[in-house]
Order: sequence, then C-alpha cells, then structure tokens
Amino acid sequence: MTPAEQHTWDLVAEVLRERGLDPATEITSITEQLTHGGHTLCCVRLRFWNNHRIDVVASDPRDKQRKVFRDQIARLLEDPVARIVLRGIGFWKVDDRSQLPDPTTFPRRDWNADERAGILRYLRSGHMLGSYLGYSWCRFRCGIPSEKMGSSDVTDNVWIWPEGLPHYIEQHDVDLPEAFIEHARQNDWQVKPGLVVSYRGFGPAFECSEWIEWSKHRG
Ligand SMILES: [Zn+2]
Repeated sequence: MTPAEQHTWDLVAEVLRERGLDPATEITSITEQLTHGGHTLCCVRLRFWNNHRIDVVASDPRDKQRKVFRDQIARLLEDPVARIVLRGIGFWKVDDRSQLPDPTTFPRRDWNADERAGILRYLRSGHMLGSYLGYSWCRFRCGIPSEKMGSSDVTDNVWIWPEGLPHYIEQHDVDLPEAFIEHARQNDWQVKPGLVVSYRGFGPAFECSEWIEWSKHRG
C-alpha cells in the first residue's frame, strides 16, 4: 500500500466502524490513481454495495475526506436497494478458466408441460437490465440465430439471468435450481412489475456462486 492508500484505509475503516460495519469485509480495494487534472485520487470499493466506488482526493484535508465518506456511507445505508446482490442463474462458461457450467453437460430435466410453460412465462416477463455489445449464442449450436439469444440480462429483483435462458429450457430441456422454480411458482409464474435494482453504472450487481455450486452437483 502507498502512504495515501494506507491513510485512506484508516479513514474509511474508522467511518465504517462508527456505523457498526467491519472494514475487513466491507473494503474490497483501495487504489491510488492520478486523474487527468493532476489530482491524486484514492478509489475505495465496498463489497456489500456491489463494489460501489467512492473517490477521495488525496490532497484534501482529513476532515473533508472523512465528511465525504460519512455522507456517502450514510446515503448507501439509507438506500434499501443498494445492498441487493442478485442471484445469477443461466450464465454459461465462456472459456476454460470460467467456473460457470456448460449446459451441454447438464442432465436434462423431464419438465412437466405446465411447469415448463410457467417457467418460460416467468423468464420472459422479467425486467431488462443492461445490454451488452454482442449477442449471446446457443451453446448447443442448434442453429438458432444469435440475435434471438439476446444481448441483455433480465431480473425479477431477486434473481438475474441472460435473456437467452428460456431457449435452453424450451428447446434443450436444461434444468434450473428448485429454489428459483419455487420462487417463480409462488409468484404465479409472472414477474412483478417495477424494476428496483439496476447496475447504477458500477460493478456487477450479482453473483453466481450459488449457481456454480448447484451446477456442480447437477453436472
Ligand atoms: Zn439451441
């Protein structure tokens, strides 16, 4: 750590502790950066707010830096959706380093027709989140045009999945975690209106560890 980073860590840790938060788990990283204007910034990322970034100008007086953190942390604590971490499903391996599953090695699910129709309706009624530059593709290489696989992520404010996920269930009988199916069933197979979460222009607001764990036992 540089002296400015250490100084910032101490200050952020102090403010987090005031709010009963543990700096060791909350602070993901602190990095010193030089801006175009020639100021030195310390960029702090906080894990439980989806890696939300707070910047502090290293040359500002300590009291001013402390105030910046206090204000931003107070705002984050009051925001009911800031801490939501969406549960990712249906994200597939892109290369060999990826821990994500490969749907072609999954056991197929013998979907009950009503349940399948329900899940498809649920997945297709979700709220669109960010759109990526490129289209996805079917991992089974079944010939569906990539534009039909979509380029967005979709959410119900609890779970998040790629826009192309329904295709895998409809055409390739791919299985999904029971916890998700049960959640969709309890909502009468229809995502409730109103998008409350968003990417807010920083970091991923979801994580896939549950999905990876589940798929290890299925694959
Ligand atoms: Zn396909």
